[in-house]
Amino acid sequence: MTSVLLAEDDDYLSNGLQKALKKKGYTVTAVDSGTDAQAILHVQNFDIVLLDLGLPGLDGTEILAEFRRRGSTTPVILITARDALDDKIAGLDLGANDYLVKPFHVLELEARMRAALRKTNWENLTVIELGKVKLNTNNGVLTLGGEEIDLTPREAVVLQALLSNAGRVVSKRKIMDQVPDWADESSGNAVEIIVHRLRKKLEIADVTINTVRGFGYIIERTN
Ligand code: CA
Repeated sequence: MTSVLLAEDDDYLSNGLQKALKKKGYTVTAVDSGTDAQAILHVQNFDIVLLDLGLPGLDGTEILAEFRRRGSTTPVILITARDALDDKIAGLDLGANDYLVKPFHVLELEARMRAALRKTNWENLTVIELGKVKLNTNNGVLTLGGEEIDLTPREAVVLQALLSNAGRVVSKRKIMDQVPDWADESSGNAVEIIVHRLRKKLEIADVTINTVRGFGYIIERTN
């Protein structure tokens, strides 16, 4: 089931959307303030986020900016009552996938959600940072304290999978699923080889890739 975080402070709209989306089989978690939205995004993963721009506590654009800075690739659709073009552009610049201006029809929302969910999550990011490590996910360029380091396309994909889940364990299977021609390989050896090479390239960085035996890998800051 597709899990949805709905951050909307208009009770009437929120209740209506919750009802409609649940009816369509989505699992919906609703919050009505910016602070609650940010807090739950820190502890829980969702398949998609519907984010009102004008929320009490914290503005939607601030939540989105922080969410992307932390490397999250979850699709985000902005909901806005504001007609100001600037807000929408700012939102899209910050990594929103789409936006809807209130009032909108729930069928329209659903169509946009399906489109956003079809995209691979990796497409939602441009630069992910962890410590001194910066990975541009559009071109696979890694910079370490300002210095560019060459990565093969596969190395870039693996590093991206780890960085977007920094501090969390990523299974070998999940990593392999990111590379189309790996999906059929039953062995995780290919991933092991790439991780080994990445560790060498990241030797001087302030991050480290740790092995979680029998499961996968976790990338973390080293102090
Ligand atoms: Ca609002």
